[in-house]
Amino acid sequence: MSSYVGRLAPSPTGALHLGNVRTFAVAWLRARACGGKVILRMEDLDHPRDKPGAAAQALDDMRWLGFDWDEEYVQSERRPFYRATLARLPAYPCICSRRDVESAQSAPHAGEQLFYPGTCRDRFANWDEAASACAPRTPCWRFRVSPGTVIRFTDVFAGLVKQDVSASLGDFPLARDRDGAGYTLAATADDLAMGVTEVVRGDDLLPATPPQILIARALGRDPPAFCHIPLVVGPDGRRLAKRHGDTRIESFRAAGVAPEAIIGWIAATCGWIDKSRPISLAGLISRFSLETIPHAAIVWRGSFT
Ligand code: GLU
Repeated sequence: MSSYVGRLAPSPTGALHLGNVRTFAVAWLRARACGGKVILRMEDLDHPRDKPGAAAQALDDMRWLGFDWDEEYVQSERRPFYRATLARLPAYPCICSRRDVESAQSAPHAGEQLFYPGTCRDRFANWDEAASACAPRTPCWRFRVSPGTVIRFTDVFAGLVKQDVSASLGDFPLARDRDGAGYTLAATADDLAMGVTEVVRGDDLLPATPPQILIARALGRDPPAFCHIPLVVGPDGRRLAKRHGDTRIESFRAAGVAPEAIIGWIAATCGWIDKSRPISLAGLISRFSLETIPHAAIVWRGSFT
């Protein structure tokens, strides 16, 4: 085995669909093609959006498609670890609602990222004090970003990324949870703890990366490498969703579609075979390359051929 450690990190907020699976295929093949290890991490901290049964169904769908992994973790079982990690970070509780943050914007900021001006810095002595000030809402933990904090990194797929986090984001949210058990903190802490050497995921998470790099550094660690892959979109150019028809893996299974047909479509969209035809995931290990993957989003047109 090489020293490469990759991970698949499904969220049970919905069913596994073509879009997730294409990204997982890239992540799995990237690891297997170099003899590396694959970690499966169920990211089930998003209550109440997590759907009962979705985690088990996702694992079952993934095995059916030909995925395997060497270690398996469930985030909801790791709360003490997140609590201990939170205690090592420059964090403070914040009670501002999204609307509060929006109305504090002095100038429009690019994209969907909201700039947070630090309203709750030094405002509360602890979480409980903040929680009682905003009950029944829940506060969030924010990471204290020093002025002049600029992050630069070279994404393995997307290339050079540079962001002045202090000017564009400010003190970013870590988790909306007393123990710090929320996506930004948990995913970062887990990637470090699990020895992940490279994160391969959808490019919708590119904006989450500079904060995750800052968290890693605050924990005294080097972040993993990052490799962000374009998403699958519908013919309207928007990311794959219900309006584009049913692309859930369980529905294709129920309709009698073979896993090789799904994998074959993915392989063709990634340039590993010249046109869509049935092929197994393991059969792609020798064909895998990042270089042939288009930099534009892939359009799902409703058929595997
Ligand atoms: N669980 C996240 C998702 O399904 C992925 C997180 C990550 O890859 O960092 O969107």
